[in-house]
Formats: sequence, C-alpha cells, structure tokens
Amino acid sequence: MTDTTTKYIFVTGGVSSSLGKGIIAASLAKLLQAQGYRTTIQKLDPYINIDPGTLNPYEHGECYVTNDGAETDLDLGHYERFLNVPTSQANNVTTGRIYQSVIDKERRGEFLGKTVQVIPHITDEIKHRIQILGKSGDYDIVLTEIGGTVGDIESLPYVEAVRQLKWEMGNQNALVIHLTLIPYLSAAGELKTKPTQHSVKTLMESGVQADVLVCRTEHELSDGIRTKLARFCNVKREAVIQSIDASTIYDVPNMMLEEGLDKVVLNQLQLESRNPDLTSWNNFVTKLKNPKGDVVIGLIGKYVELQDSYKSILEAFIHAGAANEVKVKVVSIHSEFLNAENVTSKIAHLDGILVAPGFGERGIEGKIEAIRYVRENKIPFFGICLGMQMAVIEYSRNVLGLHQANSSEMDDKTPFPVIDLMETQKQVTEKGGTMRLGSWKCDLLEDSKVAAVYNETSIMERHRHRYEFNNDFKQQIENSGMKATGFNPDTGLVEIVEIPNHPWFIGVQYHPEYKSTVANPHPLFLSFVRAALNYKTKK
Ligand code: GLN
Repeated sequence: MTDTTTKYIFVTGGVSSSLGKGIIAASLAKLLQAQGYRTTIQKLDPYINIDPGTLNPYEHGECYVTNDGAETDLDLGHYERFLNVPTSQANNVTTGRIYQSVIDKERRGEFLGKTVQVIPHITDEIKHRIQILGKSGDYDIVLTEIGGTVGDIESLPYVEAVRQLKWEMGNQNALVIHLTLIPYLSAAGELKTKPTQHSVKTLMESGVQADVLVCRTEHELSDGIRTKLARFCNVKREAVIQSIDASTIYDVPNMMLEEGLDKVVLNQLQLESRNPDLTSWNNFVTKLKNPKGDVVIGLIGKYVELQDSYKSILEAFIHAGAANEVKVKVVSIHSEFLNAENVTSKIAHLDGILVAPGFGERGIEGKIEAIRYVRENKIPFFGICLGMQMAVIEYSRNVLGLHQANSSEMDDKTPFPVIDLMETQKQVTEKGGTMRLGSWKCDLLEDSKVAAVYNETSIMERHRHRYEFNNDFKQQIENSGMKATGFNPDTGLVEIVEIPNHPWFIGVQYHPEYKSTVANPHPLFLSFVRAALNYKTKK
C-alpha cells in the first residue's frame, strides 16, 4: 500500500557528483523542522556493497555509525548534525541490500514461481524501503536523497521507483528536487545552463519531471538565467533556487531560506508555511563566524589527504570551537611520516593532538611517537578508538617497560597483547557488519576526569571495533599511573583510559564524534578544545 499520510521529497543530482545533495537535503530538512514539521532524511546509495562498512575511506569517506549499529554513508552524519535527531539502518539503503533481500525472498519461495525482475521486484523493494520511515508514523515529511547522478546505470531502478511513487502519491504528496551544476566559463564570462537542461531531460526520459531545481553555482544567477532555466526545464520561476558556494555548510539553511526553497516545497505539498525558528542555529553560526581566538590541533591519522575520511571529527571540532568561541584549526599530520627524529618539529607547536581511529598497521608507530611526545610534554591528548588503543600501547612500552607491547591486530605474536581481540570476535570470519557496533552503555568512575567532563556517570556511546583493552594488563597499567575510568557494565570491557596527573589525556574506545551535533556539541570535544586553549594561554 502506498503511504499517503506522509509527504515525500526526493533529491536527485545531475551534471556532476559532489554538488552537496546531502547538505541541501539536510538544510531543507532543518528549515522544515524549524517550522514544526517532524522531518527525517534517508540516503539511497546505488552501489552494490551491502553497506559502506567494508569500504576504504579513500573510496567513500568516513563510515558513519548509527545508534542501532548500522554502518552508513557519511551524509547521515550531516543529517544528525543538522537535525539533532538520530538516524537508523532504515535511513541508508544500498543496491546491495535491496538485491540481498529480494534474493532472500526468492530463496524462500515468496515470489510463488514468478520470474524475478528489476521491475516490479527490485523497484517494489526500493519503494518499500522509501516508505518504511513514513509508515512508522514518526514523521510528517521524509526526504530521500538518491546517491549518484541521473543517467548512471546504477541509479535507474531508483529513478523508476521515484516515478512510480510520484504517480501513486500525487504531486501534492511527492516532490522532486533536482540538484544541478551551472558552470561558469571564464573565457566567455558566462554561466551556462545547457548541462542542466540536458540533465533535466535525462530525468524526463525516465518519466520524472523535476519540480524544483537547486542550482549549484560559483556566481550569482541573474534573473535572465533563472527565467531561462524555468522555461527550458518546465519548472516555476520561483522553483529555480540558487545554491552559491558557501564559506561553511552551516550557512546553507539560511541561504535556502533566503531563496525560498522551503516555501516552494511546502506550497506544492499543500502544507502551511510558518516562520522557522532558527534562534539556536543562528546563535551557533554567529559564534562560529566570530571567534575570539584560535587553537591549533594536530589530527594524527593515515587518511590525511581527504577531508571526508574524518568528517565527523572535523565537524565535532567546529561545534566545540563555536561553543568555546574559538576557531579550531585542524592540521593533518600523516602518521606514516612521523618518527622519533621529526616528532618535535611536527608537534611541539600544537595546542593539542587527536589520534584518529583506524585499522591495520600502517602509520601506527608514528601515532605512538606522537603520543609519547604529548604525554611527556603535557600537551592535551585525545585518542579515539585506535587512538586510545595506541595510547595504551605507548604507555605499556615506555612507562611499564614492555617494549614489545602491541595490539594483536598489528602483531599476533606479541608477548604483551595489551590490546587484544574481543572474545566475541574470535569465531568471526565475515568482515561486513560483524564488528562491535552501535550504541553501548558505559559507566564512569565518579572521581574521574571523564565523569567531570560529561557531568554524568552513565553514558551511551557508539562503537566500531574488534579489539579491546586487555584486562589481563589492567592492574599493571593502573599501578603505573594510567587509569581505566569507563566500563561496559555488562562485560567489564574498558572503554576509557586517562592519565590523572596530565592536564588532559583521555582515550576512548568509542566514537564520540558521531554524536556531536550543532544543538549538542559533544562534551569531550568541548572539554578538549578548552584544554587546548588553556594550554595555549599558559605556554
Ligand atoms: N582497528 C581497531 C579495532 O578494530 C580500531 C578500530 C577503530 O579505530 N574504529 O579495534
């Protein structure tokens, strides 16, 4: 049954990838949410992987983890950061997942001897997945972002599903926004509309008429260009929306408000346009743009060439910086090229370092060098997941004198596996979706630094790892000064380590960055940035 009680907005892309569909979807959703509509966003990814969990960050950026343990596209991170509403597995669907469930049904005989085909079976499964969130009754409006670019072979079943849904739901219940690029030819000194005309036609060849055009551009669209686009592409003049390059993604909701995107959308969906309440959002943007100082944080990782690999960490710094009214300048430091000889020159001038999550051996010795330096020189240190594990290894090697200490991920013959495979992981052979994933409870020791940071003694945080702090070494490590201060109450797994006589040295096994939002900057990032600021002032 087609859902006709929820309103659906589909966001497609044309001309080029990387135009920022996720940010446009999140910005529009923010405007709708700020008018009192319960809104969520979903991403459909046309690739054949079941989820991005097995993808290298170089391929597809960071893998974002939801409360329910889904490994998802990084756009879901933007959705949560903008809306401050958690997403779930239902918010990210891939072609792999669609085919897997259709094939599973076929094996169970559910198609009653019929030939299984792209239309209707694959498209029905896509339509079902699109409507799961709407049918839950939790939302007035569901935005569905279709990954890729129209015309891609992989996107065809999704565009077909949108065509069918729009027909079944009617234009007052389903609307298509097409995000496109208006290139500027500097030799001619002109913005060009032809690629957009072609991409709207490509969409029409599949039977889908765009209702709204969001035009990504480096220069203002003139009236003439807007009229021309409207005329050639069959959209209303007011439905040609300019999306000019912004200095921060957090400006985009206000830019869309100025362009009237929310009004055009609500009008077609026959919903009332209200005055959006963006007070707290705008407070954040004002602080973000008017820092009273700055701090320089080194992000030590191995995927440093690409911004997207550590997206949530970078955004969490933006939230924490704005809240502290400082600009957090994050410098990427490639751990592979960091060693005892150059560590001083690369780190001494920083106000703090964050050692990033990661997998595998590449670059870990550089991370350990960096941690030794900041531990000894009392520079604020924040370790996340692998970063926490490296802090435990560094401490075991250089303070306890266990020089061969390691994680069994890196050296399965180490005599001192201070980080070891979790018991529950020992029988696991499949790679996809088999880590310790999602939100888990963690109890904090009352007199710990983290309890003060959170101002709580019981927290929930999201995980994505196979290895853990080895409790066999806990006593020995704690006797030397490093303390375990956060524990999973059911399993006793150590989730947090800290060094009490260091100004700010905290390593966490979980990923706090996934939970930082504009409305709720993460307490650990807030406190770490404050510690970096203190360190800088005392320096
Ligand atoms: N590779 C480590 C593990 O699996 C750390 C994972 C991470 O940093 N997300 O435990």
